[in-house]
Amino acid sequence: MKMSKINILLLFFVGLAFLTETYAQQTPQPKPEATEVWEPEPKVVTPGEGTKPPSDAIVLFDGKDFANWVSSKDGNTPKWAIKDGAMVVEKGTGDIQTKQTFGDFQLHIEWRTPDKVEGEGQGRGNSGIFLQERYELQVLDSYQNRTYSNGQAGSFYKQTIPLVNACKKPGEWQVYDIIYTAPRFRWNGSLESPARVTVIHNGVVVQNSTIIHGTTEYIGVPKNIAHGKGGIRLQDHGNPVSYRNIWIREL
Ligand code: MG
Repeated sequence: MKMSKINILLLFFVGLAFLTETYAQQTPQPKPEATEVWEPEPKVVTPGEGTKPPSDAIVLFDGKDFANWVSSKDGNTPKWAIKDGAMVVEKGTGDIQTKQTFGDFQLHIEWRTPDKVEGEGQGRGNSGIFLQERYELQVLDSYQNRTYSNGQAGSFYKQTIPLVNACKKPGEWQVYDIIYTAPRFRWNGSLESPARVTVIHNGVVVQNSTIIHGTTEYIGVPKNIAHGKGGIRLQDHGNPVSYRNIWIREL
């Protein structure tokens, strides 16, 4: 019996399928488990609820006292006021900062500009949160209060404009959630990688993995001077801005 060309072709493919199957059975196949990683196991953190911080957070201010803070000027107890569970800038007493210093972190901080609107532009509800004592995330009453864009609330002062203006009305509590990666410096003091920061203002992303170009300068360009860990510093800009519920998690 003469085989047709089609039959020969059919036989060829059946043979090929058989050989492929045999080869597959002999060769070890990757298993799903091969790409599972079990160690280390992330530790358990109980998330915060409402104004309660997560279980592993360092509470920097719980509304009671300045136990974790000093005056940036002289290292003494801050002369700011504590009113209704909030710390309030006392004009002319200077900046305050945490006793503890930090590298990479997640910071939660709530702030409120005065409900009685006074001044305009940079003179209205101005304060600031200096990350590692050097890089100012602006606090300002930016509700219907135009100023230069890289100086409004949510900006890194004189550096980076916020993506949007998520400011609440004066007198309302606002929230910054800040995820910060500190700059890295080489042994000789040169910059290896700049700081990066993400800021969520009242639930809205205003800085997305933003590069910080160096120190906050009122006049001139940012500087990069090697440094280690630094405190969280809050600015006295002469306006009675309030802060409460401040906690941090080292990363
Ligand atoms: Mg400021």
